Amino acid sequence: MEEAISLLPYDLDDDGRCPHPDAVERLRVRWKSAGIALEVCPDCAGDVNTIHVLASRIAAADPTDDFELEVPFELRGEGCDLAQESKVSADLVARYRRGEMTDADLLKEHAAERLKRIRASGKEVYIIGETCLGSDRSAFLARLRGGEAEIEAVSGFLAKHPMAVVTRSDQAANLLADLWSEHSDELLAQVASPETLERLAKEGRQLSPAQAVAEAKRAETSKGITAQLPAYGKLGPVAAHADRLARVQLTEGRAAVARQVERSRGGSHVLRSISYAFLVAAGEASSMSWQFSREEMDFGSYLAPFVQKLISSTGDDYHEALLLLMEASGSGERPSRA
Ligand SMILES: [Zn+2]
Repeated sequence: MEEAISLLPYDLDDDGRCPHPDAVERLRVRWKSAGIALEVCPDCAGDVNTIHVLASRIAAADPTDDFELEVPFELRGEGCDLAQESKVSADLVARYRRGEMTDADLLKEHAAERLKRIRASGKEVYIIGETCLGSDRSAFLARLRGGEAEIEAVSGFLAKHPMAVVTRSDQAANLLADLWSEHSDELLAQVASPETLERLAKEGRQLSPAQAVAEAKRAETSKGITAQLPAYGKLGPVAAHADRLARVQLTEGRAAVARQVERSRGGSHVLRSISYAFLVAAGEASSMSWQFSREEMDFGSYLAPFVQKLISSTGDDYHEALLLLMEASGSGERPSRA
């Protein structure tokens, strides 16, 4: 028996186990007449068929009858009863017994089948990597790492569709990618309205699932903000410049203001001073100050509090703040609402 076992390319201890007894899954081959079970993990499992190697040393009509195999799947954590899903299928057992698969093949194909069965089981169960959290959705969500929109999409979706979730890491982006092909519409619907999604779909941008969710959330948020700002018909050049920058700041944030100013600083002293005032208000002035003259910076710094008021207002207050900014800038413009 020991001689037969020594034919295997495995480093097995006296109990017949590979050096990784804590592996969550192992190929276990029970040699009945010898009263021993050999166990190897997926990392150790190689290009041999353990039953056939051992059986080659037995003189009998069908020596493979003397062996049984199973693949224990012991996740960490509690509350996962996956015994049914973890059974090696009759088809794989038969192919392995006939010597058509190696140990490594068997573990790989079985793992793929098991994953499919778990996902199709209809059980609400959450598995991250090697840890099972049972049906504790809130524990699962608490472990998930990712942006606000990613987490919102996943948690909203799972609340409506309790399901078996098997994900290789705690990154929400990975899980989104796994769910995307079947559930992208519903995942997006958790963070944005149908109108917003329709508009984004028309843009047809190529985004990863995580990017698409973040973009949808951002578009939805900005739609909400825009709805609270006054509508203007035709604005003079200074008011139009200020209003554009204010909307960029409110809907896309300060980095977007810096990018917008980078693209279009303004063609006059007043416009450039207002650009600078927005950079000051956004805390982005220092890195771009070389693009402005001393006078523009001085005037811009004076205008910054008026800009600050504008970008912290909505509705009538926004309109008032725009009027004040126009006055302070000496533009002579008096914007009127549409
Ligand atoms: Zn091992």
